[in-house]
Amino acid sequence: MEWEGPMAKSVPFELIAGNVALNFANTLDNRCSPRGETELLRSYDDLLRVCAQSRVLSPRQLGRLHHTASLANGRAKAADALRSAIRLRETIERIFAAVARNQEGGNVSPLPRRCSHGQRPSAGPVNGKDLAILNGYVKEALAYRCIAPASAFARTSTMTSNGFAFGWQWREEGTDLNAPFWPLALAAAELLVSGDLGLVRECRSATCRWLFLDKSKNHSRLWCDMKTCGNRVKARRYYRKRSLKQ
Ligand SMILES: [Zn+2]
Repeated sequence: MEWEGPMAKSVPFELIAGNVALNFANTLDNRCSPRGETELLRSYDDLLRVCAQSRVLSPRQLGRLHHTASLANGRAKAADALRSAIRLRETIERIFAAVARNQEGGNVSPLPRRCSHGQRPSAGPVNGKDLAILNGYVKEALAYRCIAPASAFARTSTMTSNGFAFGWQWREEGTDLNAPFWPLALAAAELLVSGDLGLVRECRSATCRWLFLDKSKNHSRLWCDMKTCGNRVKARRYYRKRSLKQ
C-alpha cells in the first residue's frame, strides 16, 4: 500500500534549504511577518507529505502511516504526533537560528515584532533546554533504529562483490505514528555534529527567516530563494530610493 493520492492534490513544500532538518524548520512560513505566520503543517497528512518529499520515509511506510492515522482509534494519536512534530520543528528552528545568528556575528536586521513562538535573541548560545528537548527526540529515534538487509529505498553502505548490502531502517515504522519525526530529529542531530554546521544561514528577509545551508561558491547566499525573498527586498529598496529622489 503506497500513499500517492493526497500528494497529487497538494501544493508541494518548497524544500530550498539543502538539508532535511532545515527544510522541516521552514514548514512555518512568514515566521516573523506582522501579518501573521502561515502554518504549513495543518494535518498529519501534511507531516507525511514533507517526509515524502524529503525522502526520509518510503512510499510504503507512508501508505501504512496514512492508513493507521485514518482509523477511528488513530486520529487522536495522529493529532498528538503532529503536536510533537511541531514541538520538534520549533526546537530545531530555535537551535539553528541561534547557530546562524552566531555565524553572522549578530549582524542581522532586528525582528519586526515578537514572534509568537518566542522572542529570539539577536545572537547568543544555543539554549541548553532546546538541546535537551532535541536529545529526547533523538533518544526515541535511536531506540527504533536497526540494521537490516538494504531495500531499494534505504540509504546503503557499500555492497559486497556478491551483492550483500545493509542499511538503516526503522522498527514499527508503519504503525507507530511518531515515525515521521524520527528521521527528522536524527537529521538535526547529524547536522549539529557535521562540518556543514558553519554554513547554516537565516534568510535576510525580516519577515521570512527561513533557514538554509549556504553552499554557494563564496558563501554569500543571503536569501532562502532569490525569486521570492531576494526580489522582494530588492524591489522594496528600489522603490524606497525612487521615492527619496522624488
Ligand atoms: Zn526568505
